Amino acid sequence: MSSIATPLMPIAGTIDPVPVARDLPQRPDGRTDLIGLPREAIRAALEAAGMDTKQAKLRAKQLWHWMYHRGVTDFDAMTDIAKTMRPWLAERFVIGRPDIVTAQTSEDGTRKWLLSTADGHEFEMVFIPDADRGTLCISSQVGCTLNCRFCHTGTMKLVRNLTPGEIVGQVMLARDALGEWPKGSMASHADADDEDDDAPQYTPDGRLLTNIVLMGMGEPLYNFDGVKGAMKIVMDGDGLGLSRRRITLSTSGVVPMMARAGEEIGVNLAVSLHAVTKEVRDEIVPLNRKYGIEQLLEACAAYPGANNARRITFEYVMLKDKNDSDQDARELVRLIRAHRLPAKVNLIPFNPWPGAPYECSSPERIRRFSDIIFEAGISAPVRTPRGRDIMAACGQLKSAAQKMSRADLDRLAEEKQAALG
Ligand code: SAH
Ligand code: SF4
Repeated sequence: MSSIATPLMPIAGTIDPVPVARDLPQRPDGRTDLIGLPREAIRAALEAAGMDTKQAKLRAKQLWHWMYHRGVTDFDAMTDIAKTMRPWLAERFVIGRPDIVTAQTSEDGTRKWLLSTADGHEFEMVFIPDADRGTLCISSQVGCTLNCRFCHTGTMKLVRNLTPGEIVGQVMLARDALGEWPKGSMASHADADDEDDDAPQYTPDGRLLTNIVLMGMGEPLYNFDGVKGAMKIVMDGDGLGLSRRRITLSTSGVVPMMARAGEEIGVNLAVSLHAVTKEVRDEIVPLNRKYGIEQLLEACAAYPGANNARRITFEYVMLKDKNDSDQDARELVRLIRAHRLPAKVNLIPFNPWPGAPYECSSPERIRRFSDIIFEAGISAPVRTPRGRDIMAACGQLKSAAQKMSRADLDRLAEEKQAALG
């Protein structure tokens, strides 16, 4: 599928250009989708549809609870809303979900969904079950404007930012698929506060989805507003109720947006470092030509909320003969120390994809690299690849409709790098 109907428009200004959907085409039936709207916007939408102020405020609160605490998509199931009011709502509004194009399960239990926006853009979401947690990996964009040489998503051409509704919709969909909506009492969590870690939240026991990582398709800090809007709902005590400590945003290093991410979203930060010299990082993470390693590490040192209890994760993909020497490992330790960073390092064995220009380092090399960092007192676990058989592992996400030839890939890489200046 994938008939691309949305007109794309570049954003002007100093923050790097990201094509966004101009206006999401109105739903063909003229109704408004309430998913992803802040509470206040739901109230305003009800008032605009003719409801009086007091009533709109009450109904918005009830709708919010049904949508995010109970996962209800049908107004008819909202038992504390008058029976006569429900068809009025259903005529004007919907509670949507992204469409599921395909769903796959790996032999290791990892699940991947190919999803579609209402206007036909495809993107992916992955669920990774572990003994003590369940991590949902969500996308923030369709494709990516960046072009990290080792990343499959970076070879996708068509991009638009996902809306808050499309981002939070992934979490809703995962809860639907995992059968995780509470069926019992309607007790409200209105008093919960996302600063309070004892607030009601979904815990590992009895809950499959415990953590969220913004590590699917796209660069989350190039879709700041979309990601922020969605995460506010995910963290809302009367919404999905997930603690900000269970959410991690991964950036390839969009330095000017990092402080705002810490202040306004407040989730854990992961940084895709991947190399310790300008030469290598310029090649594999071209954004480095714009924001270099020193600048990036300074922004990490200043990241609001980072401390020894909440460390910054440095992601480091292991590429054979490219970034995996003993000297690279020692330089990584030096950089972390020089910037006095509360850091841990995640070593990611490179996940291959068709046409990829790199190979994964050998297990012995990865082990040695990890040991050097560990011996310096910095945690450096090696990540076990998950879902490789269904192309669900880090950096393998790409919608099937987007296959390109090697010549196309090279042309695209040149275009993207020219755009970076
Ligand atoms: N755009 C964001 C988040 C998405 S990628 C970012 O770049 O940080 C999530 C992680 O997977 C990043 O660290 C990314 O660099 C890494 N990754 C990309 N391609 C990979 C591959 N083929 N093998 C292993 N990790 C990869
Ligand atoms: Fe984009 Fe992240 Fe892939 Fe780089 S690694 S191309 S920033 S999704």
